[in-house]
Amino acid sequence: MAKEGWDWPYSLANAGILGLRPYQPGKSSAVVEKELGIRGAVKMASNESLLGAPRGARRAYLRALKELRRYPDSEGWVLREALAAHWRVAAEQITLGNGSNEVLELLGRVFLAPGSSALYARHAFIVYPLLVQGCGAQEVVVPTRSWEYDLEAMAAALRADTRLVFLANPNNPTGSWITEEQLRGFLDRVPAQVLVVLDEAYLEYVRDPRYPDSLALMKEHPNLVLTRTFSKIYGLAGLRVGYAISTPAVAELLQRARAPFNVNTPALEAAAAALEDTRHVARVQALTRAGMEQLQEGLAALSLPWIPSQGNFLSVEFPSARSMYQALLRRGVILRPLEVYEMPHHLRVTVGLPRENRRFLRALAAIRQEQGGAWPR
Ligand SMILES: *Cc1c(COP(=O)(O)O)cnc(C)c1O
Repeated sequence: MAKEGWDWPYSLANAGILGLRPYQPGKSSAVVEKELGIRGAVKMASNESLLGAPRGARRAYLRALKELRRYPDSEGWVLREALAAHWRVAAEQITLGNGSNEVLELLGRVFLAPGSSALYARHAFIVYPLLVQGCGAQEVVVPTRSWEYDLEAMAAALRADTRLVFLANPNNPTGSWITEEQLRGFLDRVPAQVLVVLDEAYLEYVRDPRYPDSLALMKEHPNLVLTRTFSKIYGLAGLRVGYAISTPAVAELLQRARAPFNVNTPALEAAAAALEDTRHVARVQALTRAGMEQLQEGLAALSLPWIPSQGNFLSVEFPSARSMYQALLRRGVILRPLEVYEMPHHLRVTVGLPRENRRFLRALAAIRQEQGGAWPR
């Protein structure tokens, strides 16, 4: 270790990587409890399911312990066949990833490089800028209108070197979404050499009947790629399983870029079992809908504005989101600050169980009272 310049090893790294900042996850309850010396903190910061993993998934996970000395099935056939049957597509159309995050990374690896560009909206899921920059490709960021995608502007912003468009539907952290009609209009304007990645991480939470039937649309638009996950409604965020549904040719390219054994055995087994538990999913949906109403009623009573959301979360506006975040933390309620999303006046709250939502709403009321009836500034 001699002779290196002061900027070693940064001077050696790829240019795209130097611009990155590590992803900031929501704080865990354990960390907050330790930092503040409190107990019983509630985490409403990471859009996780309000119930635990389905029982069948936990049993499958334990069964997989017997196989730990073996490598996983690198092709993930059991899970891919299960997904194929579930969505009525061919197993060859499915690409598994270590979370849908990895599938998004694979899309970047396969289709982006210095000299190409990717398009997404302002306030879109932070993983898109991270991966585009990491690939050394150009970012084209299109402003939103009242927090919603401006698909006209996005279509107009397509360039000759654009390879990928990322559309989270609904988007995290805004919760806003696009209808089938809007999506159709957009796809009609996108040339075949551009892949449209529709990130449907919150698909199972959506209530609006105008939400697109993206699988049907893929028949007319083979440049559509859907990404979905077991991290959200299936309650398996800790296992990291997600997948893409695409044409077989796109899937075949993604397979080439994928590391062997990228999804581990317990995760494959638990995800396949979770998929079968439609009753669990229905319970989470019902509880989340009720929780969403509880939160909206409570926020309306406190005259706090929020962005309409089809996800399991709401972004709520405060005069000072920073002070509010800290005040809530001191009361053991962990929300997600959104400065990195260029939303400095919002905090994102994940819908919780009735008692968690109550705890959050009571904390808000108490903070306002403490401030003599105003919100902290
Ligand atoms: C949570 C989330 C994901 C899912 O990430 P995983 O890697 O599957 O856990 C993907 N897209 C969006 C918009 C999300 O909010």
